Amino acid sequence: MKALCWHGTNDVRVDTVPDPKILNPRDAIIKITSTAICGSDLHLYDGYNPTMKPGDILGHEFMGEVVELGSAVKNVQIGDRVVVPFTISCGSCFFCNRDLWSLCDNSNPNAWMVEKIMGYSPSGLFGYSHLTGGYAGGQAEYARVPFADTGLFKIPDGLTDEQVLFLTDIFPTGYMAAENCDIKPGDTVAVWGCGPVGQFGIKSAYMLGAERVIAIDRVPERLKMAKEQSGAEVINYEEIDPGEALKEMTGGRGPDSCMDAVGMEAHGTGLEGFYDEVKQALRLETDRPTALRQAIVACRKGGTVSVPGVYTGFVDKVPMGAFMNKGLTMKTGQTHVHRYFRPLIERIQNGEIDPSYIITHRLKLEEAPHAYEIFKHKKDNCIKVVLKP
Ligand code: NAD
Ligand code: ZN
Repeated sequence: MKALCWHGTNDVRVDTVPDPKILNPRDAIIKITSTAICGSDLHLYDGYNPTMKPGDILGHEFMGEVVELGSAVKNVQIGDRVVVPFTISCGSCFFCNRDLWSLCDNSNPNAWMVEKIMGYSPSGLFGYSHLTGGYAGGQAEYARVPFADTGLFKIPDGLTDEQVLFLTDIFPTGYMAAENCDIKPGDTVAVWGCGPVGQFGIKSAYMLGAERVIAIDRVPERLKMAKEQSGAEVINYEEIDPGEALKEMTGGRGPDSCMDAVGMEAHGTGLEGFYDEVKQALRLETDRPTALRQAIVACRKGGTVSVPGVYTGFVDKVPMGAFMNKGLTMKTGQTHVHRYFRPLIERIQNGEIDPSYIITHRLKLEEAPHAYEIFKHKKDNCIKVVLKP
C-alpha cells in the first residue's frame, strides 16, 4: 500500500510499504477514506521527537471502512464506516474505567522502556513515534486498529466524511479544552492559537456558555475564520501586545480563563536548531513557550488555564510565581476522545455545528509532502488539509 512516511526533519515521503495485518484478535483493518494532517504532526515534522525512525508512518486523524476483523471484535462489522480516535485505549484498565481514555495503561508496548528514561510513559497514539508505542499511522491506504472493540466508532448514515472526520481528534480536543476552562455564564475566554484546535476551542467555548471569546494569533486568515465562523474578538499579536490588549478588553481584570492552543510551536523563530542540540538527551526544552507564559500572566486571579497545546519534555521559565500567587488552576492532557464521540456527533447531527468549515485543502495522499509544507508555513491560506488516499 501507499503511506506517508517520516524520513527526518522536514522530510516526509509517500512510500510503498507492506499492508497492515491482523496481529491480535482485538484488531481491525481499516481502508482509509479520509485522513487529516494535525498541528501535532508538525512537532514530528519539525524533528522535536527523537524517537521517530525513518520509515515510520504518520497520521492519527483518520476514518474509513472496516475491511478485516479479529475474532474478538463484535461491535462493528465488515463494511461499516467508522472513525478512529487518535488515542489508543484498552477499555478496561484503571484509567479507561474512569473515563480517562488518553491515559490508558495498556496501550503503549514501549512503556517499560520509556518509563525508565522519562519517569513516566504516555499512552499509545497512532503514528506518533516510538515514545507513544510505535504504532503505524493513518496517512495511508490502510491501518491496523488495536483494541478495535473500544476504538472504532460507527458512523450513522447520512453524514459525510468531512462532517465526522474531526471527531478523531481536533473537535473533541477543542471541546475538552473549553470544558477545562470551567466556563460560567458571562465568562470571557482568551484563546492563544487559531489553528484547527484553537478554532474548535473557540467554537466550543461559545457552545459551553462563554459570553466573550478573544482569539490571538498572527495569521490573518486564521483570525478571520475565528471571527466569521464563531464570532470571536481577535488580537493579532504581531500588531499589539496580547497582555496589554486583554487587560484593556476586560476592565483590567483579565480573562476568566485562558487556553493555550499553541504548544511547542517554534516555526520561524529559529528554534529548530536549538531542538536538534537537546533532543538527544530527551530534554525538549524551549525558552519561549510564549503562549503558555502569556496565558498564565494574563489570566484573572482565581482563573483557569487550559492547555490542549502539546509539550514534550521540559519547558523553561514558566511564571510559577504568578501561577501560585494568583491562585490559578491548570488543566491539560491528551484528549479523552472516546468520552466525547457521542455528545459531539449529536451536536453534528442536530445541526449545531458542521466541523467541515475548517477545511481549506483537499488533496491526494500523494500530495502529502506538499501539504505538510503549506500547513507548516501557513501558505496558500492553509488551515486544515484533508488527504484522500
Ligand atoms: P497549528 O500549528 O495549525 O496551530 C497553531 C497556531 O498557533 C498557529 O495558527 C500559529 O500561528 C499560532 N501561534 C504560534 N505562536 C503563537 C503565540 N505565541 N500566540 C498565539 N498564537 C500563536 O496546530 P493545531 O492543529 O491547531 O494544534 C495546536 C496545538 O494543539 C499543537 O500543539 C498540537 O500538538 C496540539 N494538539 C493537542 C491535542 C491534545 O490531545 N491535547 C490534540 C491535537 C492537537
Ligand atoms: Zn491531531
